Amino acid sequence: MDASDIDDLVALDHAHLWHPFTPMRQWRERAPLIIERAEGDFLVDVQGRHYIDAVSSLWCNVHGHAVAEIDAAVREQLGLVAHSTLLGLGNVPAIRLAARLARLAPDGLTKVFFSDAGAAATEVAFKMAAGYWFHAHAQERDTFVGIAGAYHGDTTGAMSVGYHELFHRPFKHMVFRTAWAPSPDVSHSALWRRTAQPSSCRRTWAQEDDAACSAVSDEALDALDALLCELGERVAAVVIEPLVQGAAGMIVQPPGYLRAVAEIARRHGTLLVADEVATGFGRTGAMFACEHEAVTPDLLCLGKGLSGGYLPLAATLATDEIEQAFCGELAEHRTLYHGHTFSGNPLGCAAALASLEIFERCGLLAAVARKAELLARQLDPLRDARRYPLVFDVRRRGLMVGIELSADGTAATGFDPSRRLGYEVSERCRARGVIVRPLGNVVVLMPPLAIEEGNLELVAQVVVEAIGELGRS
Ligand SMILES: *Cc1c(COP(=O)(O)O)cnc(C)c1O
Repeated sequence: MDASDIDDLVALDHAHLWHPFTPMRQWRERAPLIIERAEGDFLVDVQGRHYIDAVSSLWCNVHGHAVAEIDAAVREQLGLVAHSTLLGLGNVPAIRLAARLARLAPDGLTKVFFSDAGAAATEVAFKMAAGYWFHAHAQERDTFVGIAGAYHGDTTGAMSVGYHELFHRPFKHMVFRTAWAPSPDVSHSALWRRTAQPSSCRRTWAQEDDAACSAVSDEALDALDALLCELGERVAAVVIEPLVQGAAGMIVQPPGYLRAVAEIARRHGTLLVADEVATGFGRTGAMFACEHEAVTPDLLCLGKGLSGGYLPLAATLATDEIEQAFCGELAEHRTLYHGHTFSGNPLGCAAALASLEIFERCGLLAAVARKAELLARQLDPLRDARRYPLVFDVRRRGLMVGIELSADGTAATGFDPSRRLGYEVSERCRARGVIVRPLGNVVVLMPPLAIEEGNLELVAQVVVEAIGELGRS
């Protein structure tokens, strides 16, 4: 693209495009990086510069970009029909995908409700839970229990069960009341901070401190149990991001925690909603994070990687029992009156079917475990407290990694808008051809699962180097 076309695009972006989660005044102070195309692990900008997509285009890309099989599947579907509604009609790829997901998901999740965004998938799950209790004549079960720091999307219901003081302050009056259980956040617990920062310069990470992990986990579980006792018959569902709270800063849950949460929810006779929008489709090394702890939720939310990260597609899976609560004589008015224009869009479903095909053919899940180990080794230099004084903790599970920085490297000091550490690192990575996007002080690495090992090593090296520079500046 020539220089004047690029200048036009920059001016039009600044004039008209309101970017999500973006401080717009600062955005307009410089020319944006504009992507024109992509291939494999790389995004290519309008000037032809290549960047490794180490955030998977916001956590959704699975097999890389411009994947021949997915492209072909979408093109073929485009030759048949681009969109037809699921309200009153079926369509071929949506039916096939629903059956496929029911087969893949933990046993018992046999009913699939399609939507177009992760936030919609969680809203649908909340409405299914609320409707289930309504139709079961247990309307007093109207309170959702969320885990502190949770993120379930940006629509009103999703915000309500994923409240973030900084993000949601102006919208506080819009959200419904949720009861909060603490997060089993070892990194920011007093327990780990007290014991695990060694005087020698070789650091260990919070998730490696077994004693702190089990103590923090037990404490969080006791608090959840106490909360459910207190709320009694008022709990509609416990809502959890299994294994990793992504947007909270890649907070990795201690082993056994998820399983215990499921047992506690069961014991209290309430529902469990698993939001696997981020963790689903191989991110943690299993198709779904719940599988690691043999948990079957009552409702499972999927999005992001569902279509391989190609097209906007999301789904809420439910048990027969929940779906049956919405079945009855017409006069009983049990129907779930919820839907989206693009629910089950055929192009998105065709992409998803092709993506799942590749999972099976390429043994991608086994590769994730291998690459996770490789990435961990590559990040090992960050243990050196003298060379990387700003690193506070490294958290990882599969190909979800958070590197938390702090101004003094010894305690999480919270986000300081005058020192945007995560942002500074991303800028330095970008200059070296790697796209990452931070969450406050946490540098997030979420490469496509199919990333070539050489590119994965490069990502880690670039990030480590960028963090090292920061320490010296
Ligand atoms: C991204 C995300 C969502 C929201 O998905 P959108 O498609 O952005 O609406 C919900 N839950 C979790 C855990 C997520 O990571």
